[in-house]
Amino acid sequence: MRRIGMLGGMSWESTAEYYRLANENVRDALGGMHSASILLDSVDFADIEALQSSGDWERAGLVLAERARALEAGGADLIVLCTNTMHKVAHRIEDGVSIPLLHIADTTAGAIRAAGTTRVGLLGTAFTMEQEFYRDRVAAHGIEVMTPDDADRATVHRVIYDELVRGIIRNHSRAAYREVITRLVDRGAEGIILGCTEIELLVGDEDSPVPLFPTTRLHVRAAVGFALS
Ligand code: GLU
Repeated sequence: MRRIGMLGGMSWESTAEYYRLANENVRDALGGMHSASILLDSVDFADIEALQSSGDWERAGLVLAERARALEAGGADLIVLCTNTMHKVAHRIEDGVSIPLLHIADTTAGAIRAAGTTRVGLLGTAFTMEQEFYRDRVAAHGIEVMTPDDADRATVHRVIYDELVRGIIRNHSRAAYREVITRLVDRGAEGIILGCTEIELLVGDEDSPVPLFPTTRLHVRAAVGFALS
């Protein structure tokens, strides 16, 4: 089995899910007492969030590339960056290592294509919903990506940073997300990308009239597929 290098802590609430899901996927694939071979490096999210809000993506890229190099030096065969947003600097990480980085937008788009869906709504941080790095990468797979309107994007973003990355799960916020999803579906979305690795802690299939594409689960599934190939 190849070793998965997880670059996490963004936030640790979702990285814990990555760790659990990877082990469950390997157990399900191999049975017995098998579990995943993982090297995990978890950053202090306060440092990363400060770089995000000040727009210092250059520095963020340097920091994450350095951590990815340490994962490679420790024996990782693959880099799994456990956040959608920080894929904004995925190219910096790729430039810094010689092992592959499993891009979360590609694993998500692969699942959307496999489901035969071509028009999806995207929920995530403002960076993910509003900037090109993520939408364009999904769109390059022949998928139309819709985003919520201004007010709904603000709600989705606020819940991520004020609640989900802090481990706070509120029914009220789940209801708000359900409404955002409904409005996207009314505009023609045939599926919804949960494009922030914490959203699946809040929202599940029962909250949407159309299929959900949970980026954490899909990313882990692809990583384990690589590890076992
Ligand atoms: N985990 C989130 C994501 O998937 C947001 C936290 C971050 O900004 O990295 O985008």
